[in-house]
Amino acid sequence: MSGAGETWLRLPIPFAAIGYARIGDPVRCMVLNSSFEFLAIEERWIDALSLVLAGKATPLEHYPEVVRSQHCQFNLPAVVIMRYQVKTLRRRPLFNAPTRKAVFIRDNFECQYCGVRISMSAGTRDHVMPRSRGGADTLANVVTACRSCNFRKDNRTPEEAGLTLRRKPGPLSDEEKVQCLLKTVRTKERAAWITCLRRLGIALWAA
Ligand SMILES: [Zn+2]
Repeated sequence: MSGAGETWLRLPIPFAAIGYARIGDPVRCMVLNSSFEFLAIEERWIDALSLVLAGKATPLEHYPEVVRSQHCQFNLPAVVIMRYQVKTLRRRPLFNAPTRKAVFIRDNFECQYCGVRISMSAGTRDHVMPRSRGGADTLANVVTACRSCNFRKDNRTPEEAGLTLRRKPGPLSDEEKVQCLLKTVRTKERAAWITCLRRLGIALWAA
């Protein structure tokens, strides 16, 4: 008696015993700290649901999928917020740093000088104002560049090298931050997460 998108769990709570229960499409859950900052991604829906059922987290957004125990049914949480502040060792807010991944995703994997597509392995980061001349290592000063543009530019500004920036570099949008989070983000997850963040006006990883 299970419809599309539903799974019958064979045991009641506690969920520890039903880790083998499967749903058609695995969905991950975004976990926010009580301060509304991004904390983690729960890879297993059962871990996210357990946080909610244990009273440790409050769901902010659900997926349409339902799981059932013998007596109850639950919508799978898409975003939960912790009810207490979890201490993390993270010093610098995620994604404010101009990592290769963050810069490439923001620039849509295109060289910001010639527009050629680059890959994660072949692309390079270019400091618009060179570091040797006091340029900062920030998202506002780092862009995606192909090897040949980077070589041509060398320790010069774009003007000096006769290159033109296609777009002024800036911070990442929430959508781009979500892309940075995971190797693959499924459309359904991204839709649920972004919807929730927008609805509640949550800016992830605010500086
Ligand atoms: Zn180029």
